[in-house]
Amino acid sequence: MFDTLSDRLTAALQTLTRKGKLSDADIDATAREIRIALLEADVALGVVKTFIARIKERAKGAEVSQALNPAQQVIKIVNEELVGILGGETRRLSLAKTPPTVIMLAGLQGAGKTTLAGKLALWLKKQGHAPMLVACDLQRPNAVTQLQVVGERAGVTVFAPHPGATATGASAQPGNGVGDPVDVARRAIAEAKHAQHDVVVVDTAGRLGVDEELMKQAADIRDAVEPDEVLFVVDAMIGQDAVTTAEAFRDGVGFTGVVLTKLDGDARGGAALSVREVTGQPILFASNGEKLEDFDTFHPDRMASRILG
Ligand code: GDP
Repeated sequence: MFDTLSDRLTAALQTLTRKGKLSDADIDATAREIRIALLEADVALGVVKTFIARIKERAKGAEVSQALNPAQQVIKIVNEELVGILGGETRRLSLAKTPPTVIMLAGLQGAGKTTLAGKLALWLKKQGHAPMLVACDLQRPNAVTQLQVVGERAGVTVFAPHPGATATGASAQPGNGVGDPVDVARRAIAEAKHAQHDVVVVDTAGRLGVDEELMKQAADIRDAVEPDEVLFVVDAMIGQDAVTTAEAFRDGVGFTGVVLTKLDGDARGGAALSVREVTGQPILFASNGEKLEDFDTFHPDRMASRILG
Protein backbone atom coordinates (compact mmCIF):
# COMPACT_ATOMS: atom_id res chain seq x y z
CA MET A 1 0.00 0.00 0.00
CA PHE A 2 1.39 3.40 -1.02
CA ASP A 3 4.81 1.83 -1.57
CA THR A 4 5.96 4.25 -4.25
CA LEU A 5 4.94 7.31 -2.26
CA SER A 6 6.43 5.90 0.89
CA ASP A 7 9.78 5.20 -0.80
CA ARG A 8 9.94 8.66 -2.34
CA LEU A 9 9.12 10.49 0.87
CA THR A 10 11.52 8.42 2.92
CA ALA A 11 14.29 9.11 0.41
CA ALA A 12 13.54 12.86 0.42
CA LEU A 13 13.68 13.01 4.18
CA GLN A 14 16.73 10.79 4.49
CA THR A 15 18.85 13.35 2.65
CA LEU A 16 18.20 15.69 5.56
CA THR A 17 19.32 13.26 8.23
CA ARG A 18 22.83 13.38 6.78
CA LYS A 19 23.02 17.09 7.49
CA GLY A 20 23.53 18.76 10.86
CA LYS A 21 22.09 22.23 10.70
CA LEU A 22 19.46 22.90 8.04
CA SER A 23 19.50 25.99 5.85
CA ASP A 24 16.42 27.41 4.14
CA ALA A 25 17.88 26.06 0.90
CA ASP A 26 17.99 22.53 2.39
CA ILE A 27 14.34 22.85 3.38
CA ASP A 28 13.38 24.18 -0.07
CA ALA A 29 15.19 21.27 -1.74
CA THR A 30 13.42 18.73 0.46
CA ALA A 31 10.08 20.44 -0.08
CA ARG A 32 10.66 20.16 -3.83
CA GLU A 33 11.29 16.42 -3.51
CA ILE A 34 8.17 15.99 -1.40
CA ARG A 35 6.17 17.98 -3.95
CA ILE A 36 7.31 15.70 -6.79
CA ALA A 37 6.55 12.61 -4.69
CA LEU A 38 3.02 13.84 -3.98
CA LEU A 39 2.34 14.82 -7.59
CA GLU A 40 3.58 11.43 -8.78
CA ALA A 41 1.27 9.86 -6.21
CA ASP A 42 -1.56 11.69 -8.02
CA VAL A 43 -2.46 13.93 -5.09
CA ALA A 44 -4.68 16.86 -6.16
CA LEU A 45 -2.62 19.92 -7.04
CA GLY A 46 -4.37 22.25 -4.58
CA VAL A 47 -3.70 19.82 -1.76
CA VAL A 48 -0.03 19.53 -2.73
CA LYS A 49 0.40 23.30 -2.81
CA THR A 50 -1.13 23.86 0.62
CA PHE A 51 0.80 20.95 2.06
CA ILE A 52 4.17 22.15 0.76
CA ALA A 53 3.54 25.73 1.85
CA ARG A 54 2.74 24.54 5.39
CA ILE A 55 5.83 22.31 5.55
CA LYS A 56 8.11 25.13 4.41
CA GLU A 57 6.59 27.66 6.75
CA ARG A 58 6.72 25.38 9.76
CA ALA A 59 10.17 23.91 9.01
CA LYS A 60 11.77 27.28 8.49
CA GLY A 61 10.17 28.71 11.61
CA ALA A 62 10.84 25.61 13.71
CA GLU A 63 12.30 26.35 17.11
CA VAL A 64 15.60 24.74 18.02
CA SER A 65 14.61 21.67 19.97
CA GLN A 66 16.62 19.93 22.62
CA ALA A 67 15.03 16.60 21.96
CA LEU A 68 15.10 16.48 18.16
CA ASN A 69 17.79 17.23 15.64
CA PRO A 70 16.77 19.46 12.69
CA ALA A 71 16.05 16.54 10.37
CA GLN A 72 13.90 14.81 12.97
CA GLN A 73 12.03 18.03 13.45
CA VAL A 74 11.19 18.27 9.74
CA ILE A 75 10.11 14.62 9.72
CA LYS A 76 7.85 15.34 12.69
CA ILE A 77 6.31 18.30 10.85
CA VAL A 78 5.74 16.24 7.68
CA ASN A 79 4.15 13.51 9.79
CA GLU A 80 1.84 15.97 11.54
CA GLU A 81 0.81 17.59 8.28
CA LEU A 82 0.13 14.18 6.73
CA VAL A 83 -2.09 13.28 9.68
CA GLY A 84 -3.82 16.62 9.12
CA ILE A 85 -4.63 16.07 5.46
CA LEU A 86 -5.75 12.52 6.21
CA GLY A 87 -8.31 13.95 8.62
CA GLY A 88 -6.60 14.43 12.01
CA GLU A 89 -8.54 12.50 14.61
CA THR A 90 -10.08 9.11 13.85
CA ARG A 91 -13.74 9.71 13.00
CA ARG A 92 -16.06 7.09 14.44
CA LEU A 93 -19.34 6.07 12.89
CA SER A 94 -22.19 8.10 14.33
CA LEU A 95 -25.00 6.02 15.69
CA ALA A 96 -28.59 7.17 16.01
CA LYS A 97 -29.90 7.91 19.52
CA THR A 98 -33.00 5.93 18.62
CA PRO A 99 -32.22 2.83 16.57
CA PRO A 100 -32.04 1.87 13.84
CA THR A 101 -28.99 3.78 12.68
CA VAL A 102 -29.28 4.08 8.91
CA ILE A 103 -26.11 4.01 6.81
CA MET A 104 -26.45 4.60 3.10
CA LEU A 105 -23.69 3.64 0.67
CA ALA A 106 -23.17 5.63 -2.50
CA GLY A 107 -20.55 5.52 -5.24
CA LEU A 108 -19.76 4.45 -8.75
CA GLN A 109 -20.35 0.94 -10.03
CA GLY A 110 -17.30 -1.19 -9.32
CA ALA A 111 -16.17 1.00 -6.42
CA GLY A 112 -16.69 -1.94 -4.10
CA LYS A 113 -19.99 -0.94 -2.44
CA THR A 114 -21.57 -4.38 -2.31
CA THR A 115 -18.40 -5.98 -0.99
CA LEU A 116 -18.13 -3.14 1.50
CA ALA A 117 -21.70 -3.68 2.66
CA GLY A 118 -20.73 -7.24 3.68
CA LYS A 119 -17.53 -6.06 5.34
CA LEU A 120 -19.30 -3.34 7.26
CA ALA A 121 -22.02 -5.74 8.35
CA LEU A 122 -19.47 -8.23 9.66
CA TRP A 123 -17.57 -5.45 11.42
CA LEU A 124 -20.79 -4.15 13.00
CA LYS A 125 -21.72 -7.63 14.10
CA LYS A 126 -18.34 -8.03 15.79
CA GLN A 127 -19.02 -4.73 17.60
CA GLY A 128 -22.17 -6.26 19.05
CA HIS A 129 -24.71 -4.79 16.63
CA ALA A 130 -27.50 -6.59 14.81
CA PRO A 131 -27.17 -5.16 11.29
CA MET A 132 -29.43 -5.62 8.32
CA LEU A 133 -28.33 -5.13 4.71
CA VAL A 134 -30.74 -3.64 2.21
CA ALA A 135 -30.48 -4.28 -1.52
CA CYS A 136 -31.38 -1.05 -3.28
CA ASP A 137 -29.07 -1.58 -6.24
CA LEU A 138 -31.72 -2.71 -8.67
CA GLN A 139 -29.81 -1.56 -11.75
CA ARG A 140 -26.90 -3.91 -11.98
CA PRO A 141 -27.92 -7.44 -12.87
CA ASN A 142 -26.93 -9.74 -9.98
CA ALA A 143 -26.34 -6.92 -7.49
CA VAL A 144 -29.14 -8.23 -5.27
CA THR A 145 -27.85 -11.80 -5.44
CA GLN A 146 -24.31 -10.57 -4.76
CA LEU A 147 -25.52 -8.74 -1.66
CA GLN A 148 -27.36 -11.84 -0.53
CA VAL A 149 -24.15 -13.84 -0.93
CA VAL A 150 -22.02 -11.40 1.09
CA GLY A 151 -24.79 -11.13 3.67
CA GLU A 152 -24.82 -14.89 4.06
CA ARG A 153 -21.05 -14.98 4.39
CA ALA A 154 -21.21 -12.26 7.04
CA GLY A 155 -24.09 -14.05 8.73
CA VAL A 156 -26.49 -11.10 8.58
CA THR A 157 -30.02 -10.55 7.32
CA VAL A 158 -30.46 -9.13 3.82
CA PHE A 159 -33.65 -7.29 2.90
CA ALA A 160 -34.24 -7.58 -0.84
CA PRO A 161 -37.12 -7.03 -3.24
CA HIS A 162 -38.70 -10.27 -4.29
CA PRO A 163 -37.14 -12.17 -7.23
CA GLY A 164 -38.01 -10.68 -10.58
CA ALA A 165 -37.85 -7.13 -9.30
CA THR A 166 -34.11 -6.95 -9.72
CA ALA A 167 -33.58 -6.74 -13.44
CA THR A 168 -33.42 -3.44 -15.23
CA GLY A 169 -36.45 -2.66 -17.32
CA ALA A 170 -40.13 -2.30 -16.57
CA SER A 171 -40.09 -4.01 -13.21
CA ALA A 172 -37.34 -1.77 -11.92
CA GLN A 173 -39.02 1.53 -12.69
CA PRO A 174 -39.61 3.81 -9.74
CA GLY A 175 -43.19 4.06 -8.60
CA ASN A 176 -44.44 0.57 -9.33
CA GLY A 177 -43.87 -0.51 -5.74
CA VAL A 178 -41.95 -3.60 -6.73
CA GLY A 179 -38.60 -2.71 -8.21
CA ASP A 180 -38.52 0.81 -6.89
CA PRO A 181 -35.40 1.22 -4.73
CA VAL A 182 -37.01 4.04 -2.71
CA ASP A 183 -39.90 1.79 -1.82
CA VAL A 184 -37.54 -1.08 -0.98
CA ALA A 185 -35.55 1.24 1.30
CA ARG A 186 -38.68 2.42 3.10
CA ARG A 187 -40.02 -1.06 3.63
CA ALA A 188 -36.59 -2.18 4.85
CA ILE A 189 -36.49 0.47 7.58
CA ALA A 190 -39.95 -0.57 8.78
CA GLU A 191 -38.84 -4.21 8.80
CA ALA A 192 -35.62 -3.35 10.67
CA LYS A 193 -37.65 -1.66 13.41
CA HIS A 194 -39.99 -4.60 13.59
CA ALA A 195 -37.18 -7.19 13.69
CA GLN A 196 -35.04 -5.06 16.02
CA HIS A 197 -32.04 -4.57 13.78
CA ASP A 198 -30.17 -1.61 15.27
CA VAL A 199 -28.16 -0.74 12.14
CA VAL A 200 -29.41 -0.73 8.56
CA VAL A 201 -26.91 -0.58 5.70
CA VAL A 202 -28.47 0.46 2.40
CA ASP A 203 -26.59 -0.53 -0.77
CA THR A 204 -27.49 1.72 -3.70
CA ALA A 205 -26.95 1.54 -7.45
CA GLY A 206 -23.85 2.93 -9.10
CA ARG A 207 -23.11 3.78 -12.72
CA LEU A 208 -19.84 3.51 -14.55
CA GLY A 209 -19.67 7.29 -14.57
CA VAL A 210 -21.43 10.05 -12.70
CA ASP A 211 -24.86 10.79 -14.16
CA GLU A 212 -27.94 12.74 -13.16
CA GLU A 213 -30.24 9.78 -12.94
CA LEU A 214 -27.87 8.07 -10.52
CA MET A 215 -27.69 11.18 -8.36
CA LYS A 216 -31.43 11.66 -8.36
CA GLN A 217 -32.11 8.07 -7.36
CA ALA A 218 -29.54 8.26 -4.57
CA ALA A 219 -31.00 11.57 -3.38
CA ASP A 220 -34.52 10.08 -3.41
CA ILE A 221 -33.37 7.12 -1.32
CA ARG A 222 -31.60 9.52 1.04
CA ASP A 223 -34.78 11.56 1.49
CA ALA A 224 -36.83 8.44 2.11
CA VAL A 225 -34.56 6.86 4.74
CA GLU A 226 -33.04 9.99 6.35
CA PRO A 227 -29.68 8.31 6.92
CA ASP A 228 -27.46 9.02 9.92
CA GLU A 229 -24.47 8.49 7.65
CA VAL A 230 -24.11 8.63 3.89
CA LEU A 231 -20.83 6.95 3.06
CA PHE A 232 -19.23 7.72 -0.27
CA VAL A 233 -17.43 4.55 -1.36
CA VAL A 234 -14.51 5.11 -3.69
CA ASP A 235 -11.87 2.96 -5.32
CA ALA A 236 -8.52 4.35 -4.13
CA MET A 237 -6.81 3.06 -7.27
CA ILE A 238 -8.50 5.68 -9.45
CA GLY A 239 -6.27 8.34 -7.87
CA GLN A 240 -7.28 11.91 -8.49
CA ASP A 241 -10.42 10.85 -10.37
CA ALA A 242 -11.67 9.91 -6.90
CA VAL A 243 -11.69 13.60 -6.09
CA THR A 244 -13.74 14.57 -9.14
CA THR A 245 -16.22 11.80 -8.42
CA ALA A 246 -16.37 12.78 -4.75
CA GLU A 247 -17.17 16.37 -5.67
CA ALA A 248 -19.99 15.22 -7.94
CA PHE A 249 -21.48 13.04 -5.17
CA ARG A 250 -21.04 15.79 -2.60
CA ASP A 251 -22.99 18.19 -4.79
CA GLY A 252 -25.58 15.66 -6.00
CA VAL A 253 -26.29 13.60 -2.90
CA GLY A 254 -24.10 14.90 -0.11
CA PHE A 255 -22.19 12.54 2.17
CA THR A 256 -20.96 12.49 5.72
CA GLY A 257 -17.92 10.28 5.27
CA VAL A 258 -15.72 8.42 2.83
CA VAL A 259 -14.76 4.76 2.57
CA LEU A 260 -11.63 4.01 0.57
CA THR A 261 -11.61 0.62 -1.09
CA LYS A 262 -8.90 -1.41 -2.83
CA LEU A 263 -6.12 0.22 -0.83
CA ASP A 264 -4.28 -3.09 -1.19
CA GLY A 265 -3.80 -2.35 -4.89
CA ASP A 266 -2.94 1.33 -4.46
CA ALA A 267 0.78 2.04 -4.62
CA ARG A 268 0.31 5.78 -5.02
CA GLY A 269 -2.04 7.11 -2.36
CA GLY A 270 -3.39 10.11 -4.31
CA ALA A 271 -7.04 9.46 -3.48
CA ALA A 272 -6.38 8.90 0.21
CA LEU A 273 -4.36 12.08 0.51
CA SER A 274 -6.73 14.29 -1.48
CA VAL A 275 -10.29 13.29 -0.72
CA ARG A 276 -10.55 14.65 2.82
CA GLU A 277 -9.00 18.01 1.97
CA VAL A 278 -11.05 18.51 -1.17
CA THR A 279 -14.46 17.39 0.12
CA GLY A 280 -14.10 18.41 3.75
CA GLN A 281 -15.50 15.03 4.78
CA PRO A 282 -13.51 12.49 6.78
CA ILE A 283 -12.42 9.01 5.75
CA LEU A 284 -14.17 6.59 8.10
CA PHE A 285 -13.11 3.19 6.86
CA ALA A 286 -10.51 1.55 4.65
CA SER A 287 -10.97 -1.61 2.68
CA ASN A 288 -7.87 -3.49 1.65
CA GLY A 289 -8.69 -6.81 0.08
CA GLU A 290 -11.42 -8.99 -1.31
CA LYS A 291 -12.08 -10.94 1.89
CA LEU A 292 -14.76 -9.72 4.29
CA GLU A 293 -12.17 -9.33 7.06
CA ASP A 294 -10.00 -6.99 4.96
CA PHE A 295 -11.56 -3.89 6.43
CA ASP A 296 -11.09 -1.53 9.35
CA THR A 297 -11.62 1.90 10.82
CA PHE A 298 -9.38 4.47 9.14
CA HIS A 299 -6.81 5.99 11.49
CA PRO A 300 -5.07 9.07 10.01
CA ASP A 301 -2.12 8.82 12.42
CA ARG A 302 -1.45 5.16 11.66
CA MET A 303 -1.73 5.80 7.94
CA ALA A 304 0.74 8.70 8.14
CA SER A 305 3.26 6.59 10.07
CA ARG A 306 2.87 3.87 7.50
CA ILE A 307 3.50 6.29 4.63
CA LEU A 308 6.63 7.66 6.28
CA GLY A 309 7.87 4.11 6.85
P1 GDP B 1 -19.98 -2.27 -6.54
O1 GDP B 1 -20.31 -2.28 -7.99
O2 GDP B 1 -19.63 -0.90 -6.07
O3 GDP B 1 -21.00 -2.92 -5.68
O4 GDP B 1 -18.60 -3.10 -6.40
P2 GDP B 1 -18.33 -4.60 -5.93
O5 GDP B 1 -18.54 -4.72 -4.46
O6 GDP B 1 -19.06 -5.54 -6.80
O7 GDP B 1 -16.76 -4.70 -6.17
C1 GDP B 1 -16.18 -4.65 -7.47
C2 GDP B 1 -14.93 -5.55 -7.49
O8 GDP B 1 -13.93 -5.03 -6.62
C3 GDP B 1 -15.19 -6.97 -7.02
O9 GDP B 1 -14.47 -7.85 -7.85
C4 GDP B 1 -14.63 -7.01 -5.60
O10 GDP B 1 -14.18 -8.29 -5.22
C5 GDP B 1 -13.48 -6.05 -5.71
N1 GDP B 1 -13.14 -5.38 -4.44
C6 GDP B 1 -13.97 -4.73 -3.59
N2 GDP B 1 -13.29 -4.22 -2.54
C7 GDP B 1 -11.98 -4.58 -2.73
C8 GDP B 1 -10.77 -4.32 -2.00
O11 GDP B 1 -10.72 -3.65 -0.95
N3 GDP B 1 -9.61 -4.83 -2.55
C9 GDP B 1 -9.60 -5.53 -3.71
N4 GDP B 1 -8.43 -5.98 -4.15
N5 GDP B 1 -10.72 -5.77 -4.41
C10 GDP B 1 -11.89 -5.31 -3.94
